[in-house]
Amino acid sequence: MNIILLGPPGAGKGTQAQRLEHTHGLVQISTGDMLRARKKAGDALGNELAAIMASGKLVPDALIIDMLEERISQPDATKGFILDGFPRTVPQAEALDAMLAHSSLRLDCVIELKVDEEALVERIAGRYSCAKCGAGYHDVFHKPKVAGTCDKCGSTEFKRRDDDNALAVRTRLKVYRDETAPILPYYRAEGLLKVVDGMASIDEVTVEIEAALKAA
Ligand code: ADP
Ligand code: ADP
Ligand code: ZN
Repeated sequence: MNIILLGPPGAGKGTQAQRLEHTHGLVQISTGDMLRARKKAGDALGNELAAIMASGKLVPDALIIDMLEERISQPDATKGFILDGFPRTVPQAEALDAMLAHSSLRLDCVIELKVDEEALVERIAGRYSCAKCGAGYHDVFHKPKVAGTCDKCGSTEFKRRDDDNALAVRTRLKVYRDETAPILPYYRAEGLLKVVDGMASIDEVTVEIEAALKAA
């Protein structure tokens, strides 16, 4: 099964992708995580990526398309994948179609998580993750079971993203409206799009996604 999770920043893509990884044995492919890892090299490209990401704008299509193509050709991707954060522009969606056709793969379902903008700002402001295993949490909506200790790996170190600030968030929401939302009609026309109410609780959204996948 190959799935895309689409939705604005903070919609819950990463949270739901982590659950689908476990329940369906798929691999989560987060282009945001890949770029954050690449940024750490601290070389010229890394610094260029850091500046773009801090501003909330998108990195160039050609670069991200190459990274994604490399990633889905890795052996573990044959289990099936969940794309989280890709595609984000119409050219990326077209490139993905070409890549999949080239490797005789296909998409089974594209899930749009719909969330109000005000809720997104609140979600992003409270977002943090485990510094060791990457499990995602929220100050109010998703706290670890034991305060200060990661549910998954027991680590006591957490981190916040430096682009999860009020200014970058506004830019990211605008970029989503202007550049990413135009992908939705593309997948609707292909009959792949399923819309899920992302305003519901994390557990309820998971239930809705499972129903959408069954119907796909
Ligand atoms: P995305 O990957 O789409 O940017 P995340 O999965 O990182 O979004 O979620 C953003 C923040 O909101 C995280 O802190 C997460 O714990 C929290 N969150 C995710 N889904 C929900 C939900 N349905 N209700 C409330 N909070 C949520
Ligand atoms: P969010 O979880 O808030 O939706 P991501 O972690 O997916 O954010 O992405 C963080 C940043 O990485 C984006 O603001 C953008 O600068 C860059 N990025 C991630 N994926 C892509 C992509 N497919 N195309 C262009 N830029 C991307
Ligand atoms: Zn952890």
